Amino acid sequence: MLKATLLSVGDELALGQTVDTNTAWMSQQLAGIGIDVVLHQTVPDDQAAIERAILAAASIAPLLVVSGGIGPTDDDLTRQALAAVLQAPLELDESWLARLHEFWHKRGRAMPEMNRIQAMIPRGATMIENTAGTAAGMFATVSGCEVFVLPGVPKEMKIMFERDVLPRVRARGGGATIASRTLHTFGLGESAVAELLGDLMARGRNPSVGTTVSGGVVSVRINARFDTPNQARDALDQAATLCRHKLGHLVYGQDDDTLPAVVNRLLIDRRATVTTAESCTGGLLAKYLTDVAGSSACFRVGFVVYHNQAKYERLGVNLEMLNVYGAVSEPVVDAMARGARRLAKATYALAISGIAGPDGGSPTKPVGTVCIALTYPQDDDPRETGTLMRTFNFPGDREMIRDRAAKMALALLRFRLLGEPVPF
Ligand code: ATP
Ligand code: MG
Repeated sequence: MLKATLLSVGDELALGQTVDTNTAWMSQQLAGIGIDVVLHQTVPDDQAAIERAILAAASIAPLLVVSGGIGPTDDDLTRQALAAVLQAPLELDESWLARLHEFWHKRGRAMPEMNRIQAMIPRGATMIENTAGTAAGMFATVSGCEVFVLPGVPKEMKIMFERDVLPRVRARGGGATIASRTLHTFGLGESAVAELLGDLMARGRNPSVGTTVSGGVVSVRINARFDTPNQARDALDQAATLCRHKLGHLVYGQDDDTLPAVVNRLLIDRRATVTTAESCTGGLLAKYLTDVAGSSACFRVGFVVYHNQAKYERLGVNLEMLNVYGAVSEPVVDAMARGARRLAKATYALAISGIAGPDGGSPTKPVGTVCIALTYPQDDDPRETGTLMRTFNFPGDREMIRDRAAKMALALLRFRLLGEPVPF
């Protein structure tokens, strides 16, 4: 398998002021075509450090992709470092100089003299066109290692990587391909999902199946590594079907699918609408629902009723009920959901009330206690309603508790829309 290393150049990266997203993205792209990325290096805008890093990379793997340090300013030293490593002078590339002049001409300005350096490349290197900016990339071979140098600006880097680096590397890579898919679940913890997957997750299997967690979403990553794209795709499809079989309706989507987008689609397919009545989440659930373009087809209005008085005044929640059961209780979220549903004339209503902390917890209702209600029309008689009520105890800080509560409300609605019992 072809090995590669990556190098990012920039003071801001070495100082930790900017998170290096380029290497993460490039690693994913390379893994996708079966290339083994064996090292990430980050160095400041320091010529000697860049030279050392290039030489080290060349001694480790036959492919190196560098990003950053090819701007026009004095602190951009990657081209000088590459020239030094190649022991070659920097030479002017007339065609790129003409492109630079044209770039400024189109903007009605003259090219600053400083930018002339961007048309210089080491003798023996070739230029990689940049259609989105002035920093052309470079390609050169250092002691048998193919070195691609790309701009640090992520948008420019990505265009050039996809257009010039990937095809060339793919041709060298010996044809191995990795086909990948990610299935998303919400509601169960990572170990519970792993338990359901059982021996599908055994190490050394191909396709490999692994889990990752982000924002409470437990994702199942499936990677199939085969000689041909067809083999990889077939094996991936089979493995994905097996995973879905084990996880059932826990899987809400795959790859770029999001829980709000999936819920939006289900609502719109059923010509149904939803409204929200939120206390501790302060509108986060409505935000999630409306993150999705076109959500006005299923979401018209939501209510943020933070104070008890607002629960009573806006949604008609009985004050005595609030006093007897407390704002964080199933009877109260039930009343919130029913009140909101009536006012919004929506098909479904979701209500959330909880203790997001850090204060306000008690022995019986500790921080993280969240009540969620979902009011829905009965299947046999849509004029009659039912309410699903659940009390959760979410771990984490205020932000995490609010996030999980809003997502859980979406998850409950999704199971209802599918006509499936909640499996947790
Ligand atoms: P270029 O070669 O495109 O001129 P540069 O390093 O000379 O790149 P900078 O002005 O230093 O250009 O960086 C441009 C922007 O790109 C900055 O906002 C910088 O933080 C960002 N950037 C550079 N490298 C990375 C990286 N590895 N990951 C994420 N952002 C990056
Ligand atoms: Mg830089």
